[in-house]
Amino acid sequence: MYADLHLHTNFSDGTYTPEELAGHGQRVGLAAMSLTDHDTVDGCARMAAACAEREIEFVPGCEFTVEQAGVELHLLGYLMDTEHARLCSELAKYQEVRRNRIHEMVSKLNGLGLKITSEEVMKLANCDAPGRPHIGRALVAAGHCRTLDEAFRKYLKKGKPGWVPKAKLTAAEAITLIHEAGGLAVIAHPGLYHRDEVIPPLVDAGLDGIECFYTRHSTSMTENYLMLAEEHGLLVTGGSDCHGDNKGKPLIGCVKLPYEFLARMKSAVLA
Ligand code: AMP
Ligand code: ZN
Ligand code: FE
Ligand code: FE
Repeated sequence: MYADLHLHTNFSDGTYTPEELAGHGQRVGLAAMSLTDHDTVDGCARMAAACAEREIEFVPGCEFTVEQAGVELHLLGYLMDTEHARLCSELAKYQEVRRNRIHEMVSKLNGLGLKITSEEVMKLANCDAPGRPHIGRALVAAGHCRTLDEAFRKYLKKGKPGWVPKAKLTAAEAITLIHEAGGLAVIAHPGLYHRDEVIPPLVDAGLDGIECFYTRHSTSMTENYLMLAEEHGLLVTGGSDCHGDNKGKPLIGCVKLPYEFLARMKSAVLA
């Protein structure tokens, strides 16, 4: 029995609907799936229903963008009450931050002579958590870039001319929020940051787990994070970070987390 605990839908920057995503989960034989859209839990109700229909266990989740000592990190919140009042109001605030950032980034791109409008991006995003991938898709649709990857490389990556920084929660604030909503806080894809020194302060702030198994983690990275998890007494999680079809072949099925790790997470929230 396997789980994939890092997945996106079109409630943020994935391309699949919750029903399509659950269908792919069934196809690759998953026993459990989480939905971890960026800054929103709005897809969770539909995902829960779509999973129930396919006898797949659903784990509510969300991916938060946070800052720790000047480094931008992603934190995954799992098994939270998705109707928790302060969780919902904080998410609404960061969705507003995302909308404002789309306007700012589009203006910068317009200044470079790239003609796209915020309305086009918002229409294409059609969700409450619009982000850079939606701007990238608009640049491709308008013929300014050939691929999403090119859009990121030339304009959207940190430091590139279309990039605008995003206001974020601190890691400690996000961990507190996740705990208040009854959930577990996990550092997402630590191997992508090359900044393992951020982990001990997160542990001091109450971090519960490390995403050790991840599509872009090498075997040695996975081993390193399994060791760190053991050392700090943290839970171990894993997921594919599938965003649908927008990055070539869907990643769902690339990472299969043995179910025992999810069982430990569930015991930890009850404890
Ligand atoms: P944002 O949250 O708006 O800052 O956008 C970040 C998201 O963009 C990440 O979560 C990834 O899903 C996506 N992303 C980052 N780099 C790339 C890339 N080179 N190509 C496609 N998507 C990317
Ligand atoms: Zn994403
Ligand atoms: Fe991420
Ligand atoms: Fe993700």
